Amino acid sequence: MLEIALSQQVKPDFRLLHRLPFCAITFGHVVIGLTAHNLEHLRAHEHEHVRQYERWGLFFFLAYPASSLYQWVRGNNPYWDNRFEVQARLSAANAKNEA
Ligand SMILES: [Zn+2]
Repeated sequence: MLEIALSQQVKPDFRLLHRLPFCAITFGHVVIGLTAHNLEHLRAHEHEHVRQYERWGLFFFLAYPASSLYQWVRGNNPYWDNRFEVQARLSAANAKNEA
């Protein structure tokens, strides 16, 4: 697994970074965070996405947007109600409770 922080600053001053719609995002085994601080705080959440990718393989890249689409069609929030996001939030909450 590879973690990349786009900036080492807690509050990056690059205008481009502020326009990105995420603080951290995972592609397979690569986790990209805007800052090292973001990576640290979102590590458990993003690592769950890595495990999801390991479980689903390349189908994850179809299943994730399909889950968003399914939630959107049902009138739910495509991000917050996406089953993979719900699972990642639960995993992160459990990791926090165990710490
Ligand atoms: Zn997520």
